[in-house]
Amino acid sequence: MPSEFSGKHVTVAGLGVSGVPAAKVLHGLGAHVTVVNDGADERARTQAAELEALGVTVRLGDGAASDSGSAAGLPEGTELIVTAPGWKPTKPLFAAAEQAGVPVWGDVELAWRLRGHGGRKAAPWLAVTGTNGKTTTVQMLASILAAAGLRTAAVGNIGVSLLDAVTGDTEYDVLAVELSSYQLHWAPSLRAHSAVVLNLAADHLDWHGSMEAYAADKGRVYEGNQVACVYNVADRATEDLVRAADVEEGCRAVGFTLGTPGPSQLGVVEGLLVDRAFVEDRHKNAQELAEVSDVNPPAPHNIANALAAAALARAYGVPAAAVRDGLRAFTPDAHRIAHVADVDGVAYVDDSKATNTHAAEASLAAYEPIVWIAGGLAKGATFDGLVAGAAKRLRGAVLIGADRALIREALARHAPEVPVVDLDRTDTGAMPQAVREARRLAEPGDTVLLAPACASMDMFTNYNKRGDAFAEAVRELGA
Ligand code: ADP
Repeated sequence: MPSEFSGKHVTVAGLGVSGVPAAKVLHGLGAHVTVVNDGADERARTQAAELEALGVTVRLGDGAASDSGSAAGLPEGTELIVTAPGWKPTKPLFAAAEQAGVPVWGDVELAWRLRGHGGRKAAPWLAVTGTNGKTTTVQMLASILAAAGLRTAAVGNIGVSLLDAVTGDTEYDVLAVELSSYQLHWAPSLRAHSAVVLNLAADHLDWHGSMEAYAADKGRVYEGNQVACVYNVADRATEDLVRAADVEEGCRAVGFTLGTPGPSQLGVVEGLLVDRAFVEDRHKNAQELAEVSDVNPPAPHNIANALAAAALARAYGVPAAAVRDGLRAFTPDAHRIAHVADVDGVAYVDDSKATNTHAAEASLAAYEPIVWIAGGLAKGATFDGLVAGAAKRLRGAVLIGADRALIREALARHAPEVPVVDLDRTDTGAMPQAVREARRLAEPGDTVLLAPACASMDMFTNYNKRGDAFAEAVRELGA
């Protein structure tokens, strides 16, 4: 069937998780596709061979992703670029595109434009972004929507890819979509049914150039919302983004809060999650949705995630009982505040996914007293605010990893009486030692919390491996 892509010359910038499926889909729609990719390692060569076998042109070692002005220019005749979301907007390729009047889309923009393609139902998107909590919230949302009997999936950086969801054989009623700030940057025409920015803390600033640019890209998720722009009452910046957005007539701003909700908010009252936004006469009425104990784990930031998910589901018209059933059915992904075991009355909790200070702050707020295992690659972060905020809750700290001195110095400044064990090693074997040291510091009733506030790559392949090493070491304690 002819499509708007038939015969069009499209350059796909970057192989990999988004580039390969984008190239395949576009090729299938009749476009002349050229993929440009800097690297030419084995994986890239295998992917290139697969695409070339289909008739796609691939230029490996192209230099297009380079930051220098000497990069290869636009491939001849390019009418559209579909870029990998991670490519920085400052790349010369994009300047060349702008000069030539060639639009640049990310994978999300492509997926958005392909909704409803080939006579499929164009399922509306409920979109989730924010610095932390995206994956959890999207999964909670999908669980709630499914509990309401809707055909849905959690898509985006997790599970099903967006392109698969819009072009595959499965039909959906509604999609729960996780979006990163990079993806939003490259998705100018995306218009969600409803959306949330969960929170906003400095992250990825090297890519966006400034906090303002990062916030502006996150704020794009609200553009053109139809029913609700959901914001975090405790994070003013998210509300400011709602105010700045251009939305459809009648679209409402809906807040979520861990406190008592006002009109047009969801919040918590006496151990219950309560809706005062999607009810008749919200000035007088409230609707009970679920108990706090239905949220797994019931840590404060996770209750906030549940409220955000509930707000989007309610915006879509889901009944209260489905919110409760969906939250009960939800189990978090591994390494996100996962309770590993109790040993001698001490709880061991794995939040290896806390790879930045904002995430670690949330999990440190959820326990008391804590023996904190932290450290790794700081990625330019500073730790004064985090340590000062958590100081009163700390029984002790065990530090690992390349940038542990930064945390040690912050502890010396803000929590001088907290005992600190500084493990002067960055090999993977440091984890069992860290856990043994933590056990020595802990007393019955305490929580030993792995919330590194740092990336893991100095010691481990990724945060999963770091969490696995922690769990393994805890099991050895109990053996
Ligand atoms: P993302 O997809 O945004 O990375 P995840 O749901 O995978 O988010 O959670 C990542 C980490 O962020 C968790 O391990 C937890 O430490 C922290 N986190 C989760 N939700 C929140 C929140 N609402 N606010 C702050 N930190 C959070």
